[in-house]
Amino acid sequence: TKPPVTVLGLGLMGYALADALLTAGHRVTVWNRTPAKAAPLVARGAHLAGSVREALEAGPLTISCVLDYAAQRALLAPAAGALHGRTLVSLTNGTPAQARETEAWALALGATYLDGGIMAVPHQIATPEAFLFYSGAQDPFDQHRATLAVLGTPHHLGPDVSLASLYDLALLSAMDMMFAGFLHATAVATSHRGTTATDFAPHVVAWLTSMLGMVPVMAADIDSPAPPAYAQSMDLVVAAAQNMADAAREAGIRPDHFDRTVTELKHRIAAGETEYTAASALTHLRLPARV
Ligand code: NDP
Repeated sequence: TKPPVTVLGLGLMGYALADALLTAGHRVTVWNRTPAKAAPLVARGAHLAGSVREALEAGPLTISCVLDYAAQRALLAPAAGALHGRTLVSLTNGTPAQARETEAWALALGATYLDGGIMAVPHQIATPEAFLFYSGAQDPFDQHRATLAVLGTPHHLGPDVSLASLYDLALLSAMDMMFAGFLHATAVATSHRGTTATDFAPHVVAWLTSMLGMVPVMAADIDSPAPPAYAQSMDLVVAAAQNMADAAREAGIRPDHFDRTVTELKHRIAAGETEYTAASALTHLRLPARV
């Protein structure tokens, strides 16, 4: 028999997690602020706890997936004593600082803690597409690995508890900017009356897919002191950015992003930069070191 698991939070994601664990044959206890959302899970054999305390006490492992860390802390606080000797895994989206704070809080209660980041949307849970980052103590991860693997491929990033949320939010940023790029491109392309978003979408997919091949090349350039495999002249890059700004403006689309890029690149040229590389771009993303 598979070990029991508790899931706190039955929003779209929490529901998918609990559902997957039930399907995999775990005894699943659930709690949600709005208990009615548990009904279909209860019909399939889940136990609906009457309180957070009762939910925590149902087994050694609790997975929490609610809106944010404030909600998570507020719901756990009255039942915190029940965390003693148990493992809490937070799959609530939060920041590295919140992960560190929650780990300290859980350790002080005598609990073990893992912070996690879900790299999937609810319908991908328990499919080969889903992967999850975990960070924090190795022992609870090893102990519960088989259970966590039900949800998606688990990657334990090491004992620094902040890493899962750091990677998670870094990847969410990449997704956000990719979608912003798709939307901007589509706004520009559909300024032509005869073009629909659907017509244009396959070109976006083909282009972005081919450009993804550059990621490992640029990553190697960033890490290596050797001359970069990918470099362009600053003059060429600023001319392209200027064209993107002007084309957007002509199409009646906000050019702000590219206007800012042109301004920044011109400053860099004025400061003596002649080559555009991934490493130099990264340098300019970094804020001055805090003192
Ligand atoms: P939903 O908006 O569908 O659900 C939110 C959940 O949080 C519900 O269970 C809700 O309870 C609960 N909640 C909100 N406020 C409180 C509160 N003050 N006290 C107690 N419970 C509260 O969000 P998701 O399920 O989609 O997301 C949950 C977490 O998973 C988020 O951190 C999200 O970033 C993360 N995530 C979601 C992904 C997605 O694609 N959906 C992808 C990856 C991560 P109630 O039902 O009572 O309203």
